[in-house]
Amino acid sequence: MSEREIHHTLTVPETLVPEDLQRNALLTSVDSVYNWARRRSMWPLTFGLACCALEMIAAGAARYDYGRLGMDIPFSSPRQSDLLIISGTITHKMAPQLIRLWNQMPEPKYSIAMGACTVSGGTFDSYAVVQGAAELIPVDIYLPGCPPRPEALIYAFTKLHEMVGQQSVKTVSWYRKEGEA
Ligand code: SF4
Repeated sequence: MSEREIHHTLTVPETLVPEDLQRNALLTSVDSVYNWARRRSMWPLTFGLACCALEMIAAGAARYDYGRLGMDIPFSSPRQSDLLIISGTITHKMAPQLIRLWNQMPEPKYSIAMGACTVSGGTFDSYAVVQGAAELIPVDIYLPGCPPRPEALIYAFTKLHEMVGQQSVKTVSWYRKEGEA
C-alpha cells in the first residue's frame, strides 16, 4: 500500500477504534483494499503481434523489470490473465484470434494499445491491416510511438493503475446482476 493510501486510511477518526486497539488496527475502505490488490497483481497475457512486442518483452526483462509493479507473471492462458497488451500491427488475419483471446479473459480485464500500429494502423494504411484496436475490442490505455520504449509502457501501467484505483465495487460492471443497467 502506498504512503498516500496508508495516510488516507489513517484519517479515519481514532474515536472509532477502542483505545487499546488504536496502535494495532488499520481502518480502510473495501474499495481501497480491493483496488490495491488488483493493481499489484495484474497479470498480462503473453501476446505480441510485431516489433512493438520486443519493447514489451524488454520492459519485463531485468533492466526495466515491470515485475516491480506486481506484474511479473505473464500468462500464456487468457483465462488466468487480466491485462491484454496489444503490441504490434493487427492484420485482419489475426483479428479473430485477438477477439477470441479477449473474450476468453475473465472480468475484470483491461487492455493497452501499444504503438502507432495498434492505436491507428500506423503507417500501414492498407487493406490487410486493422486501423486501430478499438475497432475490435475496448481499449483502456492508448500508448503512441513507433515503437514506444519500455519506459513508456511502464508509464502506461501506472496510468492503468490510476484508472483501476478509481473504480468502486459498487459501480463496476462485472458485479451487476444480469439485466441491470
Ligand atoms: S508501431 Fe512501429 S514498432 Fe510498433 S509494430 Fe508498428 S511499425 Fe512496429
